[in-house]
Amino acid sequence: MKTFNTINETKKYLNPFHKKGQSIGFIPTMGALHEGHLTLIRKSKAANDLTVCSIFVNPIQFNNKEDLAKYPRNLVLDSKLLSENGCDVLFAPEVQELYPESEPQTLDVDFGDLAKVMEGKFRPGHFNGVAIVVKKLFDIVNPTRSYFGKKDYQQIAIIRHMVDVLNIPIEIVKCETTRETDGLAMSSRNLRLTVGERKTAPWIHQVLLKVKEKSGTLPVGQLKEWAIKKIQEESSLKVEYFEIAEKESLMPIENWQQNGNAVALTAVFLGDVRLIDNIELF
Ligand code: AMP
Repeated sequence: MKTFNTINETKKYLNPFHKKGQSIGFIPTMGALHEGHLTLIRKSKAANDLTVCSIFVNPIQFNNKEDLAKYPRNLVLDSKLLSENGCDVLFAPEVQELYPESEPQTLDVDFGDLAKVMEGKFRPGHFNGVAIVVKKLFDIVNPTRSYFGKKDYQQIAIIRHMVDVLNIPIEIVKCETTRETDGLAMSSRNLRLTVGERKTAPWIHQVLLKVKEKSGTLPVGQLKEWAIKKIQEESSLKVEYFEIAEKESLMPIENWQQNGNAVALTAVFLGDVRLIDNIELF
């Protein structure tokens, strides 16, 4: 595996692959890699001539300074996992490389209500930061396909919207959430859970499974209330939001007739760790 820290080196290395028309699969990450990330790598590996992964803890997508400071980082182990899983190129820039001070950080895309609900509501500026970094990374790597996990369901909608609006010719591949055997969605932030919290965390997925069972049998509003209460039966879990929304637009739905494609999404605090998860209902 080749590892580069600069934009120029990365572009220079990828140029001959572009010239030969070879396909490039790209997986942007923030590192502290786990099986969820590695599944995306292997998926890309199976479908493309070359697989590129980026590791960059993107400061502008964190609305909480402490979350940024505590975000787990382990580049040595990450590199090992990537090369063991067949990744061809790792791009791991420093903050300076992607954000030279003189450059203003803006992106001329209106995400409308998509960036105002759920994660957008509780993490102001988050999606703007995500979109800016992903656009920069797309410009550097110029991949054929880019792989994203459904764990960050709203993020995929944001990226798809950006790609549509800016006519970026990159296929966005939506990948299933990889879970621990007890159902907890894998996440780099799980590393920050205490032993006790780690035992409680799978309850979120268990309630989501019950919500899927109950969907259509209770009015949407009642099901949401039920789900919040049920999650918080574990007293250390504090629900920030629990929403039922249409799968593509992610606009909240008020009744089941409104749309047959619904997904339930939630953000829950466990101590000071914020966990998100979701389940497609139908
Ligand atoms: P992150 O490093 O958290 O920014 O994640 C990088 C990519 O990996 C994003 O597209 C995530 O949605 C995806 N990802 C993170 N966790 C999982 C998971 N448990 N299953 C599948 N994809 C995931």
